[in-house]
Formats: sequence, C-alpha cells, structure tokens
Amino acid sequence: MNWIEKELELLDDASLGRSLRECSPVAESPGYMMRGDRKLLNLSSNDYLGLSQHPAIIEAMREALLSEGAGSGASRLVTGNRMPYSHLEEALAEWQNCEAALVFANGYMANSGVIGALVSRGDVVFSDRLNHASITDGVVLSRAEHARYRHNDMEHLRALLNKHRDRRRKLIVTDAVFSMDGDQAPLRELAALKREFGAMLMVDEAHSGGIYGKRGEGLCHELGLQDEVDIHMGTFSKSFGVYGAYICGSRMLIRWLVNKARPLIYSTALPPSNTAGVLKALALVQEEHWRRERLFAASSSFRCLLEASGFKIGSGDSPIIPLIAGDNETALRFSGALGSAGIAAAAIRPPTVPAGTARIRFSLSAAHTDKELTDAAAQIRIIGQQLGVLGP
Ligand SMILES: *Cc1c(COP(=O)(O)O)cnc(C)c1O
Repeated sequence: MNWIEKELELLDDASLGRSLRECSPVAESPGYMMRGDRKLLNLSSNDYLGLSQHPAIIEAMREALLSEGAGSGASRLVTGNRMPYSHLEEALAEWQNCEAALVFANGYMANSGVIGALVSRGDVVFSDRLNHASITDGVVLSRAEHARYRHNDMEHLRALLNKHRDRRRKLIVTDAVFSMDGDQAPLRELAALKREFGAMLMVDEAHSGGIYGKRGEGLCHELGLQDEVDIHMGTFSKSFGVYGAYICGSRMLIRWLVNKARPLIYSTALPPSNTAGVLKALALVQEEHWRRERLFAASSSFRCLLEASGFKIGSGDSPIIPLIAGDNETALRFSGALGSAGIAAAAIRPPTVPAGTARIRFSLSAAHTDKELTDAAAQIRIIGQQLGVLGP
C-alpha cells in the first residue's frame, strides 16, 4: 500500500489534495455555517432557496419518522415501497406535467442508473464535456460509446450526431445549468437536434430545479420546452434543501426504469421520513415564489459587485458564480483567506474543472441579505488584490 502515500504527496505538491472539514448548520440561518466555533457566511452551499432548515420540512420529517420508523428495510421492489413514495411521485408528475415520476436515492444514482437503463453496448451517448461527473459515470457504466461534445458547441454535437447517425439508440444528455460554471445549456437547439436525428434527450435540472419556471419546475419549463425532453432529472439535495432525486417522463419510461435501473433495484429505498420532507419542500418550492425572486435579485447584485471590482466571473443569471483564479495554489489561498475573513467559499480544482481554470465557486441563497453580500464582495475584492487575481 506504500504507493498511496507517494500519490498523496504528489497531489499535495500540485495543490490538488482534498480533505474533509467538519461544519455544522446555524439554526434558522441557512445562509451561515459553523466551522468549529467560528460562524461563517456560507457562499458555497447549494441550498439555493434557503429551505434546508425550514421548520415545516423538519416537522414533516419528524412526523414520518415517528409513524414509518428509521429505515425502509429493503429495496422498493422487495418490501421497501412505503406510502410516502407514491404520494411524492404523484405530486412530482403533476408538478413536472409528465405522466409519471420515479424517486431515486440521490442524483448520482439517478443519473448513473437511468443512462445504464436506456443505452448499452453499441449505442451512443452525446454528452457535454462539462456535464456532471454522475452523468459521465453513468455513460461509462452503460458501456455505450461516449461521444463528448465541446461545451455548448452545437456544431460539434451535430458533427458527432452525423458520424453516429446509424446507431441503434442515441441519447443526448446535458446539465440545464452547469454546476461549476453557472451557465445554461442551449436547450432549444438541443431539442431541435434531438428531433432531427431521432435521438432521446435527457436534461439534468440539479441546479435549475426550484429556481427557474413559474413553480420552480426548472429551465425546460421556463423555456416552454418540457414536452421536448424525454427524460427530466432533478435532485432534492439542492434547492429542496433535503436529499434524493427524481426522474419524470412517460409512463412507459418509468415502467422501464423500475425494471432496469440498477440503483433502484439493488439499493435500499430512502428512509420514508426523507421522502415526507421532500413532499413538504415540493409544496414550498411551488408556492413560495418570493424565494426565487430574492435569489435572482441577490445573484444579480452579487454578480454586479464582483464585475465592478474587475473580477472575471462566469456568464449567465444563475446563483452559481465562478470566480476564475487560474492556478490551483492561488485558488486554495483565495479560499483560505476568505475563510479567515469569515466567508466559506470552496476552491474548485481539477479534475472537477478543466486544468488551468481553478476557481472559487460562489453559490448564493435566497437567505442571503444585500448587506451580507455587499460586505462579502468588499472582502473578496481586498483578497483578490492581495493575491494578484485582480490588478492593483
Ligand atoms: C449535485 C448534482 C448531481 C448529484 O446529485 P446528488 O443528489 O447530490 O447526488 C447530479 N447532477 C448535477 C448536475 C449535480 O450538480
């Protein structure tokens, strides 16, 4: 096992080492977190709507915990399929305006399971280079050919679709909003290409669900493209503030997944209390539009503040705002200095992002106030100047 020590040293030398750091929530303040005895403004969580500490969600989970117990005891296909699942799936299908829905333990398992159920050896998956790792892993597990196209490059995708036009099954898959860049996929063009080449289209709304659309349905609904998408995927771990994931689509699709999606078949069902919490969160996501409005106002003012300071940040209007630091060491030092200034913001490095684009990934929450963001932006500017990320 000696090789591990050497490899770990190499990682640390390249400023690529990772370690787990403990943190805890601040009751009723989802915009903050504790690290030890220090309270930090949390600018790196995916709790976009500030629901993770919501009393009504916690209460729904507590009630279900008391009536349903701690664990589900089995896979859903065996004896783990409790009532809260079907309640949630009915509500999800209605929300997404689809025939049916299926809940998965988490987004990673939904993506890796669904792709493997839809394609196999001899088929081909067209996947954006910046898609989430769970999509990439799903393609690898499926044994289908992996045709990765340059980020949002529709000409490149078209060329690949042309090259593989005679394959049995073709699946185009994309993040709706890209997790480390915050920009949007060109969903209209993707839908047109899907039709032209007779492919299936799958959209991952992990970072757009709860945020876009009149009732938080996601970017596909916001753009009126929901019927063009064959496989809608989203998570409950981000905007919903809880845990889990869904697939929505036709009744036939869901029946097929129940038969073929391995993470659903070979893994124990989520605790029913979790599912009950998600059902409550879904109601809040749909009804409390003010959370979306607040989130967009916060994101737009924070983007303006960073740009006015002269930082290079990602495009788009989402609450994910990457500040490109360049090399890994600078990104780490930036994140460390922010921590000392009372701001939690993670340095994101390869292989999560391409080499040379290490960054601080800010992600905002509806829970953040203007004052908190203005103060944070002032600190970020000072640190940026000290580290030479900004000019003098
Ligand atoms: C977070 C994320 C996932 C995984 O979801 P989990 O529920 O956290 O496992 C999948 N896709 C994208 C784009 C994500 O950002």
